[in-house]
Parts: sequence; structure tokens; C-alpha cells
Amino acid sequence: MYSLFKDYLNKELGAIHNEGLYKKERIMISPQGAKVSLVGGEEVLNFCANNYLGLSNNEQLIDAAKKALDSHGYGMSSVRFICGTTNLHKELEKAIAKYFGTDDTILYAACFDANGGVFEPLFNKEDAIISDSLNHASIIDGVRLCKAQRYRYANADMDDLEEKLKLAQAQRFRLIVTDGVFSMDGNIAPINEILALSEKYNAMVMIDESHSAGVVGETGRGVTQLYNCRGKIEIITGTLGKAFGGAIGGFTTGKKEIIEMLRQRSRPYLFSNSIPPFVAAAGIEAFKILSESNILVDKLHSNTRYFISEMIKNGFDIKPTQSAICAVMLYDANLAQKYASKLLDKGIYVTGFSYPVVPKGQARIRVQLSAEHTMAHLQKAVQAFCEVRENL
Ligand SMILES: *Cc1c(COP(=O)(O)O)cnc(C)c1O
Repeated sequence: MYSLFKDYLNKELGAIHNEGLYKKERIMISPQGAKVSLVGGEEVLNFCANNYLGLSNNEQLIDAAKKALDSHGYGMSSVRFICGTTNLHKELEKAIAKYFGTDDTILYAACFDANGGVFEPLFNKEDAIISDSLNHASIIDGVRLCKAQRYRYANADMDDLEEKLKLAQAQRFRLIVTDGVFSMDGNIAPINEILALSEKYNAMVMIDESHSAGVVGETGRGVTQLYNCRGKIEIITGTLGKAFGGAIGGFTTGKKEIIEMLRQRSRPYLFSNSIPPFVAAAGIEAFKILSESNILVDKLHSNTRYFISEMIKNGFDIKPTQSAICAVMLYDANLAQKYASKLLDKGIYVTGFSYPVVPKGQARIRVQLSAEHTMAHLQKAVQAFCEVRENL
């Protein structure tokens, strides 16, 4: 059997190559940071990590993790409800609830699991899930695992959402689901309008704050802070894998009864391992740092403002953004690829995105800002963008 299957796979892989969609890993030999070393020895400035607050290699987080390795060991070898819960897991769940102003939190191995395990335990075929068309893959997969009636509305299109809410009046419970920040454009879900519609059409709201937590809002508490609706959202999911240290872990935080039910019925929680205690300890430290000072969030905001204004001043076509994601539009897939590779030659590490990750004819380079970038880093990046444009 395998020889036939192997031929089939090689043919498919060849097609991926021919379409220019083959993904390769670029190997780094340094910790994650504003400056990273690639395996060939080159040092480059990194503008494609989700390391928004520069916590991935933060000394306080590393110290907290080391201490917990000594006090709590390496791994748990258990799911949470058997013998996989330490005081550190409980403390981190509390810290996350405090950060978002919610009742309670349940941890997962990743936000992919949080989203995969949030719908099926709560909703059945009598209910409706109304989902933004640009929501993250894990939301799409999570919704597929649930028997609820599905509705999909065009990205942040409130007229379309209203249409779908009208149709969904046929169902028992309704849940509107959206990313806080959409990762390809950096735009924000219009939570104020979504909330108004949820009241008019009697629906609940779920927000995935993975790209917005730590980034959006005056103190980085996410889109619920920006729209002044903390405590009003039934379900928030998020990741520890981006702004909050970038190691591993995800969470669902929100209404008490919802979290309680997830602890009873959510399959990735019941059937997958607990996160290591040292990761929980570093997570606690991250939320402690962010509760004590706003320095990192302020720095991220000023870096983002500066970079975007410089890029616009230099005539680049930037998607309107309210996050730390800056999409530099090039439209042509080949050009985006070439542009990114020339930028790397100049020591600027960014990624080009084209179809199918973004719509056809919408190829771009996505720049992600970090609190760790210095003014010199930002200036070097803008200059490199200008130089490459002249050569292409
Ligand atoms: C990154 C991301 C996830 C996945 O988070 P992990 O913890 O890496 O699994 C889920 N949702 C959104 C919106 C994301 O951006």
C-alpha cells in the first residue's frame, strides 16, 4: 500500500512546490528577540514574531521558570483533573481572570485547544454560532466539532452580521464569535457594534484575544478595554504563546458557569496533558509585570505609531491597522516573496504572505512590532524597505 501512497504524496508535494506555496523553516540559533541569529551566523532584526511585549526572553520570566523547575519539577504526566493541577496552575488562572476582568479561567495546552474545546460542550443542534469569515483556523475547526447551526458573516461587516442574526432567531441560543485583531490586516473587530447587535438580537459574544491581548487598549487588556466592555463578554479565549512570553499555553476566560461547564466537558482539557508548572510560573510573572507597570505596552504603542507613520510618509501602501500588525501591500505574490528575501539580505526578517493565506491579488509583507525594538531598529527597517523598493 505504502508505495502507492508515497507516489500520491510526492505528487501533491510537487504541486505545492510548483504553486510556490511550499513552507520552509528558517533555523535560528539564538533566543527569540528583536535581534536573532540565523543558523548561518547572520544576525538579523526580527519583525515577524508575535513577541509583542518582548517577553519571550525576559529575565524575570526565565528566573520564575527556573525557580519553578526546582520547586515543582519538569512535567505533570497527567491531565488537569486527575493529578495535573498545581498551585501554580490555579494562580495563573486567577491572574488571567484578573487581567481580563472576568469571573474565572480554564487553561489549555494552546489556544488552538481552547477554541477546539469551547463550542461542542456548550452548544448543540438547537443553537446558532455566527462566525466572522476571517476568524482563526482553530475557531473554524472548533465550530465544525459542534452540532450547532453555523452562520458566517463577511469580515467585520455589521450589515451581514445583522442578516445572519435575523436568520439565527430560529435557534435557541446564539453566539457571535470574532477574533479581536485579525492577523493578516491588523484590523480590529468592531466590538461596540457587535455588542449593540447582540443586544438587539439576543445573542452572546465570544472574542479570541490572541493577537489583541497585551497589545490593544491603553494598558493592553485587549479589545474589551478598547471598547470599554470589560466583564460584558461571555467568552474570551487567548494564548500564552504570543505577547505573554510566547512559550506555550492557551485559555478560555469568562462567565463562571461557562468555565465550570468546560472543566466538566471540554475534550482538550479532559484528554490532553496539563501545561508544565514552570510555564505556568513564567506566565504568572508575565501578568505580574504587566499589572505593575505599563512601560512595555506604552513602548509597543509608540513603536507601532512611529513605524506606521514613517512608512506612510515614505509612500508605502499600509492597511489601516489598530494593532501591532502592519501589512505592507504589494499585491503581487512574486513581488512579495522577492521583497521579503531582499529585506533579509539587508538584515530585516519579515514574511511575505500570498494566496491562499490572503485573497488572490492581495499579497503583502506583514511587519509585527515589538516593545523590544529600539528606535534604531525601526529606522533601519524603514530604510531597508525604501532601498529594496528602489532596486525592484
Ligand atoms: C495564534 C492564534 C491562535 C492559536 O494560539 P496557540 O496558543 O498558538 O495555539 C488562536 N487564535 C488566534 C486568533 C491566534 O492568532
